[in-house]
Amino acid sequence: MAPTPDSKMSNEKYRHLYVVIEHEEGNLLPVNFEMLGEARRLMDGFNVRYSAEEKVVAVLLGSEMRSQCDKLISYGADAVIYAENPELKYHRNLVYTKVISQIANDKDCSNKISARYSEEFKRPRFMFFSADDTGRHLSATVLAELESGLASDINKLVIDDIELKHEHKTKGQLEKYFKTLEMYRPDFSGFLWTTILCLDNRHPNNRREYHPQACSIIPGVFQPIESDNNRKGVIVDFKVTLNTDDLSIKILNRKVVKSPIDYDSHKAIVSFGRGINESPEENIALIDSLKRELGAEVGISLPISKKPYNISNSKLSAYITPERVIGTSGRKVAPTLYIAVGISGAMQHIAGMKESEFVIAINPDTDSPIRDECDIFIKGRLEDVLPVLIEELRQQKAMVEVRN
Ligand SMILES: Cc1cc2nc3c(=O)[nH]c(=O)nc-3n(C[C@H](O)[C@H](O)[C@H](O)COP(=O)(O)OP(=O)(O)OC[C@H]3O[C@@H](n4cnc5c(N)ncnc54)[C@H](O)[C@@H]3O)c2cc1C
Repeated sequence: MAPTPDSKMSNEKYRHLYVVIEHEEGNLLPVNFEMLGEARRLMDGFNVRYSAEEKVVAVLLGSEMRSQCDKLISYGADAVIYAENPELKYHRNLVYTKVISQIANDKDCSNKISARYSEEFKRPRFMFFSADDTGRHLSATVLAELESGLASDINKLVIDDIELKHEHKTKGQLEKYFKTLEMYRPDFSGFLWTTILCLDNRHPNNRREYHPQACSIIPGVFQPIESDNNRKGVIVDFKVTLNTDDLSIKILNRKVVKSPIDYDSHKAIVSFGRGINESPEENIALIDSLKRELGAEVGISLPISKKPYNISNSKLSAYITPERVIGTSGRKVAPTLYIAVGISGAMQHIAGMKESEFVIAINPDTDSPIRDECDIFIKGRLEDVLPVLIEELRQQKAMVEVRN
């Protein structure tokens, strides 16, 4: 099928989908393979519909990591742009922003990936980052540097042609935008979807281009493709140029700080959210009792970490701490049993607990998204359900002790 021309402003100087790869101490994070999997699915469709020349391009910065490029290709990249430099061994946002922006502007890289398709190359067409702490920060600074837009915390993506009439964008005229990345994110705890578009301004008074169309992607949402070691791809070595200003932040010493909350050695986690709001003090006491009966650890949803309720200092310091947040902004856990008490089940929370073996949710609202994520949904208020549950556990334990 022939490429579709853009009606007013050619965006053919924008090419490829760049996926920015994250690693810790040289180890690639799982989210990379998820992003590559989704990039592959999207670009397979793009290649059939528009042009076979546009590629999935992984962008890897690091030191002594060239051997990882083949792995990225086996997971779906058509090409890897690899920037090797001892200064890139550990993530420093200033340096990484500079190098990724250089790569995004580099016509030579695009030329090596798809020579006959790079004459007009200006920037990547699309860019993906991970929506973890590192990727959220990096994506914002890179896109500021590239003077385009960014949609954060995305969990659904579509590439399509769209028609749009907008006062600021199109001077109220109906316009067609080709090859547009529709970026969806869950808002209001997953009850509402927002579609974010990053579109060029075609209004004659404020004409301006917005590419790349970029987003950060919630870890754990997309599936990697099956790795195939026979997949072929291009590796492009990018020569890094840094000046003394870029290296003004130096790493003199490095210490990996272990979280004080040990989720790994507990088989059960009881997490609570804003459902405690009617009587927070008493409800946290109930959670505390359940935790004791089960020998569990306690997790919280993100809003709870902002201390929204008037709670005694002892409970604040015990439970309302950022280290206990489960989700994309906190910890990823995989216990045998996860009990979500008064938690609605927003995508960002689910990403942190979806590997749990067995999930129980306690919630009066059967429309809460957590219902789709649990093995048992107990419809009810925690004030009513928890005392019964705790009492039952006590009785069962007493019976087991008598038997032993
Ligand atoms: C960039 C970004 C990152 C984020 N990262 C995270 C993250 O890492 N972790 C995270 O958790 N969130 C995160 N969020 C927030 C997330 O989108 C949700 O807003 C949040 O998870 C909702 O918290 P909640 O379930 O406690 O509250 P709510 O959504 O308000 O849900 C409260 C639930 O309690 C139920 N309820 C009410 N009364 C009772 C009762 N008496 N007994 C039992 N249940 C009751 C309600 O039916 C409701 O389902 C993030 C958001 C953004 C934008």
